[in-house]
Amino acid sequence: MSDTIFHKILRGEIPADIVHEDDHVFAFRDIAPQAPVHVLFVPKQDFATLNDVPEDAAVVVGRLATAAARYAKAQGFSDDGYRIVMNCNGDGGQTVFQIHLHLLAGAPLGRFGTPGH
Ligand code: 5GP
Repeated sequence: MSDTIFHKILRGEIPADIVHEDDHVFAFRDIAPQAPVHVLFVPKQDFATLNDVPEDAAVVVGRLATAAARYAKAQGFSDDGYRIVMNCNGDGGQTVFQIHLHLLAGAPLGRFGTPGH
């Protein structure tokens, strides 16, 4: 089994503010929030990066997005809006090598990317 910080959270070895768990996905608040709402959605199936997800496992990624949308609806901010982000490898800014989806919300988020682009 892979052993990132997210696997340790899933196994209950380190604490986290878990806001959702089902058979396939768990979600918890980011320790260093970049917006008023910042929740990470993580699959229970192991993939280090998005590059490692084969076509026949696309549902693993889809479940992260639909779980985030359901959470946004349940929390009442889906109509105001939100952003979902998946970082991949160095240029993408990925620091934890178990795939995960960031849900950012709670304020106008502005644009994103590198300055001047
Ligand atoms: P990445 O940069 O890989 O896309 O995102 C990793 C995220 O995990 C970062 O936003 C970081 O703040 C968050 N993170 C790192 N370690 C922990 C931790 O121990 N607990 C929680 N809740 N979040 C973490």
